[in-house]
Amino acid sequence: VKETRQPEYLRKLDKEHYFHPTTPLKLHQENGPGLIIKEGKGIHVTDVYDDVYIDGVSSLWNVNIGYGRQEMAEAAKQQMMRLSYGSSFFNNSNDQVIQLSEKLAELTPGNLDVSFFTSGGSESNESAFKIVRHYWKLKGRPERTKIIALDLSYHGVTMGATSATGVREFDHMITSSAPGFLHAKPYLTDCEKGDKSQPDYESSIRGIVEKEGPETVAAVILEPIQGVGGINIPPEGYLKAVRELCDEYGIYMIADEVICGFGRTGEMFGVDNWEVVPDLMSVAKGITSGYMQLGAVLLKSELRDELAEMSDDVFFHGFTYSGHPTACAVGLKNLEIIENEKLVQNSKHMGDELLKGLAYLEEQHQVTAKSRTAGLLGAIELYADRDSGKAFDPSLHAAQQVVEECLSRNLLLRPLSFGGMNAVALAPPLIVNKGDIETMIDR
Ligand code: PLP
Repeated sequence: VKETRQPEYLRKLDKEHYFHPTTPLKLHQENGPGLIIKEGKGIHVTDVYDDVYIDGVSSLWNVNIGYGRQEMAEAAKQQMMRLSYGSSFFNNSNDQVIQLSEKLAELTPGNLDVSFFTSGGSESNESAFKIVRHYWKLKGRPERTKIIALDLSYHGVTMGATSATGVREFDHMITSSAPGFLHAKPYLTDCEKGDKSQPDYESSIRGIVEKEGPETVAAVILEPIQGVGGINIPPEGYLKAVRELCDEYGIYMIADEVICGFGRTGEMFGVDNWEVVPDLMSVAKGITSGYMQLGAVLLKSELRDELAEMSDDVFFHGFTYSGHPTACAVGLKNLEIIENEKLVQNSKHMGDELLKGLAYLEEQHQVTAKSRTAGLLGAIELYADRDSGKAFDPSLHAAQQVVEECLSRNLLLRPLSFGGMNAVALAPPLIVNKGDIETMIDR
């Protein structure tokens, strides 16, 4: 082993030279990095000490088809040999981005038939915000700029996306968010349907729209199921109520499908669980299962058509890597694998197994409660006393402790501790089988 590959040497270099994303910097400087992984195969990853772990959260809930797939490497290699990169600026195109756009149109519900490509989820949400604001400007309604998001939502880290994010820790780090972003309390279905007698009415999306004036609101953005905020599954009827509210006031509805998309929740898209069709949809992560950086905003063709009709000018928004041919080729192969191996259906069935496993943990452990899954997006919560709902003292970092204990048993999970919750997320690759789920629960 070359000196540079030795684990302790890597740890030292990491400490010296690597500024980690979304990481406690002080802890990194004191202790160095946590896990340093070097290999992945199926649902397992191997670290530099050769310890093998089950990846119970698909890394950042993105490695949907699992690690180390030969076909994916082949698709990337072939495309790189043919055309490694090509720009889509100035009305140019390439064969891969065209095919992926068509495939996405086929998979999405309703008439979300047009794709704008990015390199990830934040860029997708940022682009969605700019598209709707641009639309209203061209429409002669430049005051229609406000974006309403939900508390405990996560939409990414670029300026607009972080301002929309309702997990406050993310936008508090920039002191103040961008203007025009407002937050509503999640899942107030009756309020969204118009019941003004509800005590929380003013905090609902409808309450905010009516207070601010619908003529100032450009769009509502929400994750069909909140991920980072705690795997919060909306009650039946909520998404539909938001859809109807948006229709009533001519407000665009943006679904952030960055986690939910491509089978994670047991349907192709999160909104498919409730048969709601948004006007725009942000996707990333599962579109390539993390094999390449790719994201997209999928929009109703009428919206693109209207934008085209209203202006002869350039649409002044695009990324160097919008429509990257290699990323698109990898995305196409990934979607082919998801379909051929029926991974959306597997996600649904294995999600049911996971829920049974979590229910078993609830029987065994007095501190666990509120197990929930939607496909293979699941969580279990921890309470000091679950009967009274008494939370653990935050200084105990209960969810973090459980995750560390699971790490010592070679199972990677993720704590979700925002908004006073102590949840542990479980979101394994969509290729898991019953035995894998049992092993996870066992550990
Ligand atoms: N939206 C949601 C729902 C996410 O979970 C994430 C990332 O976790 C993002 C947006 C941001 O995506 P990215 O990290 O690719 O910019």
